[in-house]
Amino acid sequence: MSKLESVETLVIGSGPGGYVAALRSSQLGMKTAIIERSQLGGVCTHVGCIPSKALIAESHRYHLLQEFYPADAAVSFKDAQLFKQGIVNKQAGGVHYLLKTAGVSILEGEARLVDEHTAIIKQMGQEQTITFKYAILATGSRPIELQAFPFGGRVLSSTEALSLPEAPASLVVIGGGYIGMELGQMYAKFGTKVTILEGGERVLPGFEAKLAAPVAKQLKADGIDIVTGATAGKMVQNSASITLHYSKNGEQHQVTAEYALVTVGRKPNTDGELGLDRIGLNVSGRGLIGTDKQCRTAIPHIFAIGDITAGPALAHKASYEAKVAAEAIAGYASEVDYKAIPLVVFSSPELASVGLSETEAQAKAIPVVVGKAPFAINGRALALRETEGFVKVVADPISGIVIGAQIVGVEASTLISELALAIEMGATVEDLAMTINPHPTLGEVIMEAAENAVRKMMLKSK
Ligand code: FAD
Repeated sequence: MSKLESVETLVIGSGPGGYVAALRSSQLGMKTAIIERSQLGGVCTHVGCIPSKALIAESHRYHLLQEFYPADAAVSFKDAQLFKQGIVNKQAGGVHYLLKTAGVSILEGEARLVDEHTAIIKQMGQEQTITFKYAILATGSRPIELQAFPFGGRVLSSTEALSLPEAPASLVVIGGGYIGMELGQMYAKFGTKVTILEGGERVLPGFEAKLAAPVAKQLKADGIDIVTGATAGKMVQNSASITLHYSKNGEQHQVTAEYALVTVGRKPNTDGELGLDRIGLNVSGRGLIGTDKQCRTAIPHIFAIGDITAGPALAHKASYEAKVAAEAIAGYASEVDYKAIPLVVFSSPELASVGLSETEAQAKAIPVVVGKAPFAINGRALALRETEGFVKVVADPISGIVIGAQIVGVEASTLISELALAIEMGATVEDLAMTINPHPTLGEVIMEAAENAVRKMMLKSK
């Protein structure tokens, strides 16, 4: 076994957590290495955010062409896959370039911790050791596999669903969370007959019912069958199709499709070879590593970030923690503050939420003032033929400080950033209402929702 040089910061995993941590660590003057067992960029770049959004954007363009200019609708799913792969390659190349130019050593192979300051890197039968002063664990997560529906054959995880060579004639999605909705709607737009089986009362349970409703309506308009309160029980598959048996209200039903896509959540990569047990680092029942406000684990010089820690499994949460962990190692007093992590569903219409919702405030008996405005009469939304949805701003009723916001509608994913900034800066609804927005733009709807809240506060104080 050969020994590599020793580093100050060793980062394990190169997703949006790991590569951002390595960059920041190196930029702050620490000798840094990053280890990746698969592809630089992690899940987000290769089988998550980037390829899914590329295919979703293509499906949107295809759908629009079909709807408004059918004679020109020449885009095929194969073209969309090529487009997607091009983008993935560019992004992965970008990660490599950034790490290289920042002076980070990139090591290929699987990392295993053998003691609190040593890891073994295994690649193609070869083993090397590396020693470190600090480590940042960023090993991410993988799709949860259901015992009754193991991946393989006609049962897909999100990873395979992103790489089908053709849009299937039919698809059953098990799980009504955001990944299932996004991929299901993407395929529906390419002409696939999609059925969604969800165990709960409605799809997108993480969002307020009124917010998720326009999305559910559009999913139905796209020809998607949504079966709620459904428990998938068993499957029978052959070389061409799969039949899923499920129960609903005590009755047995079945649905047959070309593929079944299982999207019931993700499992942290904290088991297996990583060796947490060897260094005495415990994980929760769900496999998550506990951390403090600086992303420090129970072993003070070892940090953990991203999908292996508590909180939403999202790329921007991983990158945010990455910066905090690297800065903490460099001796800065950086700490995480999760009050403004945006959650986005890239459905049509898009869904986005940041901070507290009205429903959460009610459940916690927190008094709030809520301002709301629709896209329906916004000039830009009309021009874009995207008038569905609304913006909701949630604020403290006395100070007007923004504590949450939700958007369902066109470009919700982009618009939510202004509201995240408002929360981060401690801005008030008056600040949002008095910000001069260019006309005609979608941002005016945020301004109007804030004006609505300000009006309510003014009337109450009279
Ligand atoms: P990962 O991106 O999972 O990266 C971890 C890396 O560590 C992997 O490359 C893995 O190979 C490597 N690794 C693991 N163990 C070892 C080891 N022992 N040695 C060496 N390397 C190791 N999030 C969003 O914010 N927006 C979205 O739109 C979005 N869309 C998504 C769509 C899909 C279909 C999926 C599946 C996920 C999506 N996500 C999205 C979630 C997002 O991809 C994850 O939250 C994010 O990738 C987590 O980043 P991470 O750095 O924690 O880990």
